Amino acid sequence: MAEITPYSAFRDEKHSREVSEARFKKLFDEADAMSIQGYLPNGTVVYWNQASEKIYGYTAEEALGGNLLDLIIPADIRQEVEGAVNWMFESGQGIPAGRLELRHKNGHAVHVHSSHTVIAIPNHPPVLFCMDADMSSLVRAEAELRIAAAAFESQQGMFITDAQGVILRVNQAFTLTTGYSAEEAVGQTPRLIRSDYHPAAYYEAMWQSLLDTGFWQGEIWNRRKSGEVYANWITITAVRDEKGEITHYVCSQIDITQRKDAEAQIMHLAFYDPLTRLPNRRLLLDRLQQAIAASARNQSVGALLFIDLDNFKTLNDTLGHDIGDRLLQQVAERLTACIRKNDTVARLGGDEFLVMLEDLSQSQPEAATQAEAAGRKILEALNQIYQIDNHKYLGSVSIGITLFSRQANVDELLKQADLAMYEAKSSGRNSLRFFDLEMQKAVTLRAELLNGLQEALREQQFRLYYQPQVDHEGHITGAEALVRWERPGVGLVSPVEFIPVAEESGLIKPLGFWVLETACSQLADWALKPESAALTLSVNVSPVQFNCADFVEQVLEILHKTGANAQQLKLELTESLLVEKVDEVIAKMSALKAHGVGFSLDDFGTGYSSLAYLRRLPLDQLKIDRSFVRDLLDDPNSAAIAQTIIDLSQTMGLSVIAEGVETEIQRVLLASLGCHAYQGYLFGRPLPIEQLQELLIAQVITTELVI
Ligand code: C2E
Ligand code: CA
Ligand code: CA
Repeated sequence: MAEITPYSAFRDEKHSREVSEARFKKLFDEADAMSIQGYLPNGTVVYWNQASEKIYGYTAEEALGGNLLDLIIPADIRQEVEGAVNWMFESGQGIPAGRLELRHKNGHAVHVHSSHTVIAIPNHPPVLFCMDADMSSLVRAEAELRIAAAAFESQQGMFITDAQGVILRVNQAFTLTTGYSAEEAVGQTPRLIRSDYHPAAYYEAMWQSLLDTGFWQGEIWNRRKSGEVYANWITITAVRDEKGEITHYVCSQIDITQRKDAEAQIMHLAFYDPLTRLPNRRLLLDRLQQAIAASARNQSVGALLFIDLDNFKTLNDTLGHDIGDRLLQQVAERLTACIRKNDTVARLGGDEFLVMLEDLSQSQPEAATQAEAAGRKILEALNQIYQIDNHKYLGSVSIGITLFSRQANVDELLKQADLAMYEAKSSGRNSLRFFDLEMQKAVTLRAELLNGLQEALREQQFRLYYQPQVDHEGHITGAEALVRWERPGVGLVSPVEFIPVAEESGLIKPLGFWVLETACSQLADWALKPESAALTLSVNVSPVQFNCADFVEQVLEILHKTGANAQQLKLELTESLLVEKVDEVIAKMSALKAHGVGFSLDDFGTGYSSLAYLRRLPLDQLKIDRSFVRDLLDDPNSAAIAQTIIDLSQTMGLSVIAEGVETEIQRVLLASLGCHAYQGYLFGRPLPIEQLQELLIAQVITTELVI
């Protein structure tokens, strides 16, 4: 260790002082964390302890006798330091302690916190002592903190949570994307921004990965404070302490909604036709596949309509592709306007379009009619004049239709629709054809039937027939009104054939009105004659008719207009009416009941009646369906059902009547089960009113004879 002047200055002092001095010297020399240097006024180094060697890189030998300014003062602060040193020697005091950036022997910066003191002893040159604490690691840590802080305030939304997931810090980008300020977010958990787009299992998997690997990355849909949901690319990193325990989580998120939008755009290119913006063949095939699966689930039928423009090539060749493109766009618009929201219009390419109809009726013929109606609508919409610039163009199309359900094959279906379209084309333009010939016939027939029915209403071709209802002695107590269609050139048409079509087309409303009105007029007429004054008349009411909003008013109006006694009118309803809106049905029944109208439940036992509903209905009568009566003898099941219905009517306080009674044995059997009212060929077929009238008169005569 070098000789130190200041201490030698004290050698003349007392011995005890020497001991103390020695102690201080050792302390100074070896003070590990504190670099201590001594300088003369001209900067000459006179003291250099061990810590100084470490911090500045010069050994004491190298430093002693050297100059402060040359050794550790960087050029840019030389003057300043020189001035400060001079000032300190002149004033005899140190400048305030502070941070300095000095220089190591090998040139790098040394950050120190420096304190200074000037020790002046008489007869000795004054010495400036500098005590420098090494701040390098602190400065490094500070720099790292600054870097971390800058990084934290990056473009990415970031937040830090504790091990329990409670948010400790969020950055500005987080606030910008989520809308939550630091004050609002800190103390909350990330649930704050959670959307309900992911199942719980998604988050569970995320946590599992974090616990296992300390890392998770993935896409998450979050919710902004405004409620808007956005796509995020999230990176979560667990921070562990030296023991390996997780102390924090750092989560950074990038809003990828825009990227998602871009993806959507790419999707659009891949699945949509750029010219018309309609789904392309690829998407159509995909949807068709799904539609087939759906039809298997809900048992509905769907339809494919293959649409091809007539003469498109000619237009393209004569007026140019530009005009052709514009026409295709207009066709696309018209097609889209023709269909329901859930249906699909696609462009296959060229002038070929496909329309897919889903969720048609469960019955094939009915679905075929619906598909045909859609096809006709399209034919009509596309067969209007197109205006393209100055050109007026009248286009037409040919449509091929095929139906699909459950096990259809996509390629096969396309082929069928295509084939049908060619059929349509070859049969003359602007027409449509079904792939299936039977279907084509059925549809044509149905269309004819509907036309015929409309005409029948106008031309009054409907007749009301009356079938007697009798008591246990065979006395006629009333009749059921059954409608017939006297079709010119055909003869009597059964209601079984035309009621379903009337129901689908809505024609049942005017038809039902006519039946009710005719029946009530008959009742009023009967009231005037002794042989028929007490008869009841049963009238069938279709569910479609009953469900009309003004049904109750209609019946009351008819009763009022005809003057019929409501007590003698019995409306026959079927169980299918009771599948939905039971409360509404009960309300309507009750309203009519209040006026005296009676109700019979027709075809009882064939439907889905729930006893719970049945009890709530204001019924008067159950009608045992004729299928049970028919099988009474051969099928123990039918007999059991008949028995149950009869018992049920008794417990519910209702009357019971059996229909379709054709033989005496059936009648006797029914009587033995407890049913004493009957209707059927055994007692009389449905008859025109004059013939029923004759029966009634004959009955009066026999009764009188018996008396
Ligand atoms: P429904 O109400 O069950 O009518 C009874 C049907 O059984 C009638 O057929 C009748 O002719 C037939 N029938 C009567 N006795 C016997 C018998 O002993 N044996 C056999 N095998 N059959 C018998 P119809 O007149 O052809 O009527 C068929 C269905 O058409 C009716 O079934 C009813 O649901 C409906 N319908 C008839 N007229 C009307 C009407 O005015 N309005 C409404 N909405 N539906 C009607
Ligand atoms: Ca009936
Ligand atoms: Ca019936």
